[in-house]
Amino acid sequence: MKHLGVLGWPVAHSRSPAIHNAALAELGLRDWHYQRLPVPPELLLDTTRALGSSGFVGANVTIPHKQAALALADSASAAARAIGAANTLSFAADGAIAAENTDAPGLIAALGRPARGLSALVLGAGGSARAAVWALREAGAAEVSIWNRTAQRAKALAHELGARALANPQPADVLVNCTSVGLAPQPDELAVLSLSAATLGDYGLVVDLVYRSGRTALLDAATAHGVATVDGLEILVAQGALSLELWTGRKAPLQVMRDAARAGA
Ligand code: NAP
Repeated sequence: MKHLGVLGWPVAHSRSPAIHNAALAELGLRDWHYQRLPVPPELLLDTTRALGSSGFVGANVTIPHKQAALALADSASAAARAIGAANTLSFAADGAIAAENTDAPGLIAALGRPARGLSALVLGAGGSARAAVWALREAGAAEVSIWNRTAQRAKALAHELGARALANPQPADVLVNCTSVGLAPQPDELAVLSLSAATLGDYGLVVDLVYRSGRTALLDAATAHGVATVDGLEILVAQGALSLELWTGRKAPLQVMRDAARAGA
C-alpha cells in the first residue's frame, strides 16, 4: 500500500482526501490511499520524519505547518524557498524529504488565462498572499499590487517581492482575495476588504482563495457585475492536481477532482 495524506491542525474539514482518493481511483491506483494526518505543531517534526518509513510517498501540508514543513525538509524547490513555505512533501526511499510549493503554480493554472502582461491586485499579506504575489511576478504579470488591512505588512511584502503596496484597492485585470475574509459569512464582507459592489466591475477576473459552503459575497458581487470568477475550490483542486502529478508521475484527472471537491459543497 502506498500512502498519501494532508498534514494540518486541525484538518478534519479538509476536502483533500475526497479529491485525491477520487483521482487515485480514476487513475486505477488501487494500492494508493490518501488520508487526513491531524498533527499538532509540537509533533510535526517527529511525525513527518517517520512518514517515509511508514509507507508514505508524500503529503500535502496545510495550516499551520507550511513554514515548518519547509524548515524540516532535506531539500526544497526554488519556489518553496522563495515563498518560504511548502504545501507538498515527497518522501524518498532513503528517508530524505523534498519540499515543493504547488500553491503558486496552482493559482496560475486556475486563472485559465496567461498571467503574462496582466495587472494584478492581491488582497492580504499572509502566507497565501505571499505565494500569490510570488507566483504572479514569476508568471510575468506586468504589475502586482498588494492591499492589506494592516498596511505595514503589505508594504513589507511588496518591498520583499518587488510588488507595490496600495493604501486602497485599485482596478486591475485580476483581483485575488488572499485574506480569510469570507471564511465565515458576515454582512460586510466587501466593506472590510475596502471594496464595494459597484467597483467590482473594474476587475477583469476575480479570484477568491476562500472556500466555504456556498459562494462568497465577493464572488457573488463579481458575478452580478458580469465579471468572471475563480473560487477557492478550483484553487484547491489545481494545487492538489500538481501535487498528485509529482507523487504519481501521472496526469491528474482534473474534472474528477473538481467533481469530488464540489460534492456536498
Ligand atoms: P493568514 O496568513 O492568516 O493571512 C490572513 C490574511 O487575512 C491577512 O492578510 C489578514 O490581514 C487578513 N484578514 C484576516 N481577517 C481580516 C479582516 N477581518 N479584515 C481584513 N483582512 C483580514 O492566512 P492565509 O494562509 O494566507 O490564508 C488566507 C485564506 O486563504 C484562508 O481563508 C485560507 O483558507 C485560504 N486559502 C485557500 C487555499 C485554497 O487552496 N483554496 C490555499 C491557501 C489558503 P492582517 O495582516 O491585517 O491581519
